[in-house]
Amino acid sequence: MASDQPFRQARFGLSAPSIAHLPEDAGREVLMLGRSNVGKSSFINALCGHKSLAQTSKTPGRTRFLNVYHLREGCRLIDAPGYGFARASKSDIAQWQKMLEQYIQERNSLGMVMVIMDIRHPLQAQDLLWLDFLHVSCVPLWIILNKKDTLGYGKQVEAQRKVVGYCSQLGIDAQVSLVSSQKKQGLEPMWEFLRSDF
Ligand code: GDP
Repeated sequence: MASDQPFRQARFGLSAPSIAHLPEDAGREVLMLGRSNVGKSSFINALCGHKSLAQTSKTPGRTRFLNVYHLREGCRLIDAPGYGFARASKSDIAQWQKMLEQYIQERNSLGMVMVIMDIRHPLQAQDLLWLDFLHVSCVPLWIILNKKDTLGYGKQVEAQRKVVGYCSQLGIDAQVSLVSSQKKQGLEPMWEFLRSDF
């Protein structure tokens, strides 16, 4: 069980429709990326010790925006829209992808990208495309396998091995961690990282 909840002062900042709307490019940021429904909002809420902080990202009209959460002085989480959304138009998806690619390549304060996956369905086609892009962009990468509570221990280890194996095969340098946002398990390494001067 999570014992120590370090970011109770976390608060929603703004929904940025473009990079120009983001806060000044200073301090440190962690980008949260993942397919829709993997539990990205739940993960952000669990990290911040809130029940519904990250619901903002689901507000109609804000689902294509970059949502900014202030974790502590000089440290922000940037919640990217979930990918794989069926109802978006091709031009919406292309625009969203371009914004994200630009953010990843140009943002000085970006210190880590956490790619969240459902442990039962890791490494989906769009995950692989983003992993490749992040790898060639030389951004520190942390793969979070969420919903570990849905699998027994053996299957959890199997999923982790599969992802670690994929990354090492392609020379992708990434940490791979197992969490349950619902049960608040496995969050301590992320808390420790977010408290540091990464
Ligand atoms: P998002 O679309 O990636 O932001 O996903 P949500 O946070 O809205 O979660 C999608 C669904 O997965 C919801 O029904 C959540 O309750 C569920 N969920 C999220 N995290 C976990 C988890 O750690 N364990 C389980 N069993 N379900 C989870």
